Amino acid sequence: MTDRRNEQTEETMEEKMVTPLLDWYEMNARSLPWRDDPTPYHVWISEIMLQQTRVEAVKEYYARFTRELPDIAALAQVDEERLLKLWEGLGYYSRARNLKKAAVIVMEQYQGRLPRNKEELIKLPGIGAYTAGAVSSIAYGRKAAAVDGNVLRVMSRLTGSRENIAAEQVKKRLTERIEAIIPEAFPGAFNQALMDLGAMVCLPNGEPRCGECPLADLCTAFHQNIQNELPVKASKKPRRREEKTILVFETPQGFLVRKRPERGLLAGMWEFPALEGRQDEETVRRVIGESGWASDGMTVLGSAKHIFSHIEWEMQGIYARLSAPKEGQAAFMDCIPVTWERLEQEYSVPAAFDAYRETIRKMRQNSGK
Ligand code: SF4
Repeated sequence: MTDRRNEQTEETMEEKMVTPLLDWYEMNARSLPWRDDPTPYHVWISEIMLQQTRVEAVKEYYARFTRELPDIAALAQVDEERLLKLWEGLGYYSRARNLKKAAVIVMEQYQGRLPRNKEELIKLPGIGAYTAGAVSSIAYGRKAAAVDGNVLRVMSRLTGSRENIAAEQVKKRLTERIEAIIPEAFPGAFNQALMDLGAMVCLPNGEPRCGECPLADLCTAFHQNIQNELPVKASKKPRRREEKTILVFETPQGFLVRKRPERGLLAGMWEFPALEGRQDEETVRRVIGESGWASDGMTVLGSAKHIFSHIEWEMQGIYARLSAPKEGQAAFMDCIPVTWERLEQEYSVPAAFDAYRETIRKMRQNSGK
C-alpha cells in the first residue's frame, strides 16, 4: 500500500490563507458605494480616486462625480474646467486628466467599454497594474492580482519578508505569488478581502490588530512578534521645501487669480498669485505699487502648509484690497479678476489654497457678504 501522505503536496502558506480570508470577508466586507454596483466604470473611478485619498473622503467625491458623469461617454465629453472642478480637493490632478484621456480612447477604440484584460487595461493613460487588476477582477471576474500598499504590507508580514516593498522586483514577485492562488470563482472577492484586511486589521504604523486577524495562525510576523518591524520600505528622498507668500488680492471686479502652466505641478489649475519666500508687508506694498495698482489696507492671513509627493509648500498669506489705478486696469502677475461666487463654483483651485479660501469665506460672512 502506498503512503498517501507522500502523494499529497504540502499546501503553501498562500494556499492556506484563501479560505479563512474569504470567510472573513463574507462577514466583514466594508460597505462602500462603488461596491453596490461594481460596473467597470465605477470600479475604475473609485480606484483612481482612492489612490492617495482616504475612503471616507472619497465617498462624497465619488457620488458627485458619478452623478454628473454617469458613464464613460459623459467622461469623454466633459469640459476640462468642469472636470478639474469635480476633482477639486482630491489633488494629483493629472489623475483626472488621464481619466478623460482614457475615456476618449475607450470610446474611439473599444466601443465605449473598458477592456477586460489587465494587459489591455494597462495600456490606457493613468491605469497602472493595481487599477488594471482591480477592474479586471472585481468588475469582470478575471483572475488578476491587485497589489497596492495595503496588500504588500499584509503579504510581507504574513511571509515575514524583510525585502523592500518599494522595489519593483519585490512587487512583481509578490504579484505573481498572489496571482497563483486567486480562486477562479471569486477573484474580485479575494482581492477586496486582502485590501480590506490591510485597511481594517493589518494596519500600518505598528498597529496591526492581530487578535482579530483570520490569518494569525499562518502569519510569520505574528509568530515571531516582528509585526511592527514590517514591512521594510526604503526611505525616500526628503521633500524639497519651498516658501511662498500667497497674495489674496481683492479688486472692485473680483479676486485676482491666474492659471498655472499646462505642464508640471498643479498644471492648468487656478491659483492666487504668490511671491517666492516669506515676504513682509513692505515688500508686498512695493510689488503692488510697481504693477500700477494701489492698496488700501493689508491683512496678514497667517501660515499654512501643503505637502505634495516631492515638495512641501510653507506658505504665509497676505490679503489686500486693491483699488484700480487712475489710468485704467493694469495687469498684475498675469491675473484676471474673478468674483468670489464664480471662483467657488466654476474655477478649479487646488487644495493647497484651502486655508486661505476658508479665511476669505469667514471674512465675507463676518462682513455680511
Ligand atoms: Fe497582519 Fe497581524 Fe494578521 Fe499577521 S496576524 S497578517 S501581522 S494582522
